[in-house]
Amino acid sequence: MHSVAGLLPEDCPLVLRPPYRNPHHSATPAALVGAGSTVLRPGLASQAHRGVLFLDEAPEFSRPTLDALRQPLESGVIELARARVSARFPARFLLVLAANPCPCARAGAATARACECPSLVRRRYLSRLSGPLLDRVDLQVELAAPSRAELRADARYADTSAVAAGRVEAARAATASRLAGTPWRTNAEIPGAALRRTWALPAKVTRPADLAFESGQLTARGLDRVLRVAWTLADLTGLPAPGPTQIGMALDLRLPGRQQ
Ligand SMILES: [Zn+2]
Repeated sequence: MHSVAGLLPEDCPLVLRPPYRNPHHSATPAALVGAGSTVLRPGLASQAHRGVLFLDEAPEFSRPTLDALRQPLESGVIELARARVSARFPARFLLVLAANPCPCARAGAATARACECPSLVRRRYLSRLSGPLLDRVDLQVELAAPSRAELRADARYADTSAVAAGRVEAARAATASRLAGTPWRTNAEIPGAALRRTWALPAKVTRPADLAFESGQLTARGLDRVLRVAWTLADLTGLPAPGPTQIGMALDLRLPGRQQ
């Protein structure tokens, strides 16, 4: 992708580190998915293939730009068609969206200056992230501003990045051994049908997720995504398959503030 985009430095014919792209919120849909009339060039989403695409202050991006990410999030490819030429670029990136609770970013913060955004403005701000886009986001976590005591405790007890990376490596190895002989390498890549057929879980394990689906809190796509996250949590814990705890954690990570 980097070669096709003309971004490969001459002294480095191979990209050895997973790419990282963080487009500005003024980015157009074409900048993200690719553009051109006679020669099509991959956009930032394809340049982030097998790496990270980070959209800071996501609600500031235009709706068409955000919605252009839906196709690659679903299929891992971007198909561009023009009058005389068409192309298919891979775009399987890890999408990270960050958003403030409101335009002034002070809502819910324990600071001296309180948020003054009218409630309609606040609601409109977050609703710019459309339902269909958020339906493709596996982990949705609300963060509160940390207190000084929490920051101190974090420095003492939190794992280092190296320790966390070791956990990820072990989980990836567990996933790879389970998926040996299949075309997939990570839980995220397993198609829904295969997930439900080959790795079906007992009904009593998936019950909370099934209930969330039946009550309309989860879409069919969302249900599959909860199951994939639960498998990853099992791989992180060293379990052969997810149990009720992993299903519950996956639901909590997807539906912040959900009713038990
Ligand atoms: Zn505000």
